[in-house]
Amino acid sequence: MSFASLGLMPALLENLQRLAYQQPTAVQQQAIAPILAGKDILAAAQTGTGKTAAFTVPLLQLLLTEGEKVTSNCVRALVLVPTRELAEQVHESIRSYLGDLPLRTAVAYGGVSINPQMMSLRRGVDVLVATPGRLLDLYQQNALRFNQMQTLVLDEADRMLDLGFAEELNALFALMPRKRQTLLFSATFSGPIRTLAGHLLDQPVRIDVTPKHSAAETVKQCLLVVDKHAKTDLLLHLISSRQWGQVLVFVRTRKGAESLHKKLVAAQITADAIHGDKTQPARLRALQAFKQGRIQVLVATDVAARGLDIEQLPHVVNFDLPTVAQDYVHRIGRTGRAGLSGEAISLVSADELEALIAIEELMGINLQRFDEPDFYAEHRLPETVLGVGRIKKPKKPKKNKAVGTGQIHLGDDFAVDSKPQVVPVRQVPRLAVPGRHKPKPSNAKPR
Ligand code: AMP
Repeated sequence: MSFASLGLMPALLENLQRLAYQQPTAVQQQAIAPILAGKDILAAAQTGTGKTAAFTVPLLQLLLTEGEKVTSNCVRALVLVPTRELAEQVHESIRSYLGDLPLRTAVAYGGVSINPQMMSLRRGVDVLVATPGRLLDLYQQNALRFNQMQTLVLDEADRMLDLGFAEELNALFALMPRKRQTLLFSATFSGPIRTLAGHLLDQPVRIDVTPKHSAAETVKQCLLVVDKHAKTDLLLHLISSRQWGQVLVFVRTRKGAESLHKKLVAAQITADAIHGDKTQPARLRALQAFKQGRIQVLVATDVAARGLDIEQLPHVVNFDLPTVAQDYVHRIGRTGRAGLSGEAISLVSADELEALIAIEELMGINLQRFDEPDFYAEHRLPETVLGVGRIKKPKKPKKNKAVGTGQIHLGDDFAVDSKPQVVPVRQVPRLAVPGRHKPKPSNAKPR
């Protein structure tokens, strides 16, 4: 199938050709024609599938060919996104698909001065990309009117709900004209998303290009079992021994991001960190430096897990597992984009068992486990069994002599309905060159 067969105008086809887009992706194949026909869309498509072009390109065509010229402080199409990073990125994509074609676009998000955003809205804009909170501020300051609005796009709608934007969204929906086209994109069709869709969409075309909570097939996933205190050394070892180029490393907390960043710099690795305590300009600077290849490692909290589009990023490391399982899917979606292969490695210590179980249940798979030579974990991560339910970690893990025999007792602290008496320890394959490595004795310190 070609882009031309989807009914796109020559000027936009030229722009896609300039970007070397040869063929529409699955979500583009299914979304472009119905959007051009004015239909509402409910699409489950995770980041990396080409969803941005799927809604942007037909949207631009409609704006170029239909409707009135935009007037002062009005907006004709609004793209709502959960984070500042995604807002910048979607806006950048819109600019590249638009090329020299005559539409005005703008981007608005919090954490930076509102005045330039108010100025850019004065003459009216055809497409505004915005986060919900700042959009509401702009409306309340009379910088924005919705009476010319013809299209509303919700991008990563599930994430907007996760981040607690439901109230702002409801306030905004009440201000918008009822007669409009609405396109809802979400990584999942969760209950709240279905409810939202029921309120907002009119006989939508349903598109589902990610039927499971799976990562793109091009992402190779595995986990390395490691003691918590050895994670930094293991990361440094992986970077040097595997001769990684650029790596995106996810951590759970802002403090953790800062601390790891410092350790990497101390180890002579060019690195920066992005997290919620950093100012927006500092976050954008770090991201830009990473995108341009000026730094090797970018350490990020989940605030950056969505919306980062970095070409050909081959490695993502989960230094900590995320507390919200869904974030795992978004994190590893930073690699293996647009059909390129990628690798997502999680460094998992025994105290992260519950987070691991939640992730594996969500994905419907057991992540393949490995031990890295010289980093054999003293605290073993118990086997996880899909469908067994929530296994509570024992309060005090006992030193267990059964490890060597392939069995470990997990104590008396399981959920009653799912209590396995004995859980087998998985025989983990080694990544080592055969004969190079012997597991460390249990009292040895990792390097
Ligand atoms: P998205 O899922 O919208 O974040 O897009 C992921 C990446 O795929 C971006 O880098 C896009 O530039 C790229 N992309 C989107 N559509 C295509 C296509 N049809 N052919 C090649 N690359 C694409």
